[in-house]
Amino acid sequence: MLKGKTAVVTGSTSGIGLGIAKALAEQGANIVMNGFGEKDAAIAEVKAFGVEVEYHGADMSKPAEIEDMMRTAEKRFGGVDILVNNAGIQHVANVEDFPVDRWDAIIAINLSSAFHTSRMALPGMKQRNWGRIINLASVHGLVGSAQKSAYVAAKHGIVGLTKVTALETAQTGVTCNAICPGWVLTPLVQKQVDARAEKDQVSNDEAKKRLLSEKQPSGEFVTPEQLAALAVFFCSPAATQIRGVAWNMDGGWVAQ
Ligand code: NAD
Repeated sequence: MLKGKTAVVTGSTSGIGLGIAKALAEQGANIVMNGFGEKDAAIAEVKAFGVEVEYHGADMSKPAEIEDMMRTAEKRFGGVDILVNNAGIQHVANVEDFPVDRWDAIIAINLSSAFHTSRMALPGMKQRNWGRIINLASVHGLVGSAQKSAYVAAKHGIVGLTKVTALETAQTGVTCNAICPGWVLTPLVQKQVDARAEKDQVSNDEAKKRLLSEKQPSGEFVTPEQLAALAVFFCSPAATQIRGVAWNMDGGWVAQ
């Protein structure tokens, strides 16, 4: 379905971003991968679908590096058709204890980076009259949780950016939507599971159960594969008139 298209997926060396990169590659899209950590295995997993893969190590808190990544993608593939703004970090503390540098980093990586990639991608998408921007927000783009001020502010912000981008492209072949996952068991959440196990002096499994039972009525984690299937749907012709939504996949979290 996506043969001949090019997708940039930020933060695709791990977790949800890697899941989405693989699903888009399975549909035939060439992929520009990005992110830190163990990247070689992740790149190999995406290449296994037989598509072209470019890796760019841009730090999503640095606008100049983001611009370089977007220009590199255009040079290599002739344009960016699908943009998945996924890179994100978390920090947990009360507002009065929240380290200022963590606040700034979360706003830069989880929110401002999507503005920078979008402003670089939109002219080409509008010119070709086809594009898909998919912003990884969170249930925390829709509701709050204590001790997550920066994350909740950034995720509410990205839902707002999604709506404005969708309105500015409403009469074109470009769409912009947000995905709002509940708990997904990735390295980002494993850190919170570890912290909970330590605080309550319980096993890893019990800490997972406790986290889920507080917020996610299904009692089960959402998976990167399920989220990736939604991203692929947003890229399909059937989704052409889905514009500016913040679509939750959360085991019932925000239905409460
Ligand atoms: P993850 O930690 O598994 O992956 C995050 C990715 O972002 C990694 O590839 C990492 O290298 C990259 N990254 C981090 N800082 C970066 C930076 N400065 N520049 C470039 N890349 C950077 O996390 P995940 O759970 O897969 O999260 C992906 C997205 O989904 C995030 O935006 C997160 O907020 C969102 N989300 C996650 C959950 C969850 O439960 N895991 C729930 C809702 C939303």
